[in-house]
Amino acid sequence: MATTSGVTTISDVKMFEKSARRHLKTLSATHGVKGTLLIWKPGENTDRLRKKYWCAMAIANHLQQVINERERVKQESCDHDWEYEHSRDERTRYTCKKCGLFR
Ligand SMILES: [Zn+2]
Repeated sequence: MATTSGVTTISDVKMFEKSARRHLKTLSATHGVKGTLLIWKPGENTDRLRKKYWCAMAIANHLQQVINERERVKQESCDHDWEYEHSRDERTRYTCKKCGLFR
């Protein structure tokens, strides 16, 4: 990355961001990777910050759905090994040592 007097300029950051986004798009097409690059400046326009925030939240929510679905599949195919939990609240007494499901 080019620098001016040892300091990275905003222009350099924007060029890096554009280049990285293009590379991510290519990786998404060739390798199916998901995700994005999140870069912001503290003094950036509030509407732009809000837009980036919601974009990040949408990605986090999607990732959570992927994780939840994998846990559900794992729990449905598990031949549970229940273990009594002393530290849990009144309703939860047993947790499966293999998949983390509780009852
Ligand atoms: Zn289990």
